[in-house]
Amino acid sequence: MIDCIFCKIVAGSIPASIVGETERSLAFRDVSPRQPLHILVVPKDHHANVADLSLNDPESLVDLMQLGSRLANELTTGHFRFTFNTGEFAGQTVFHAHGHITSNQPVTS
Ligand code: AMP
Ligand code: ZN
Repeated sequence: MIDCIFCKIVAGSIPASIVGETERSLAFRDVSPRQPLHILVVPKDHHANVADLSLNDPESLVDLMQLGSRLANELTTGHFRFTFNTGEFAGQTVFHAHGHITSNQPVTS
């Protein structure tokens, strides 16, 4: 297996606080939350960033966006950010595509 921390979370070989999943996507809490709500949504298959995911597996990108939006609407008052850092100089530190959902108005945190 490629040495990727999010692939290991998808495989269940390292723990995560999972908040939702579909056949193609997994959502879990960020280990270092920057807002009262901070979850990550990842494709289960490895893609280096969201730009690659959009080109190589657009159906999984739609699935990821739908899972993230559903969870954001459940876990916040409807006010949230859904962001993707792409590339080292844009702040990406884990090179498995992931969207950050952050909110300072969680319904539950
Ligand atoms: P980025 O900087 O956009 O690549 O975001 C990577 C995010 O992954 C950061 O917010 C980290 O806090 C988070 N992170 C790193 N390792 C883990 C982990 N094992 N479980 C949950 N979140 C993680
Ligand atoms: Zn990966």
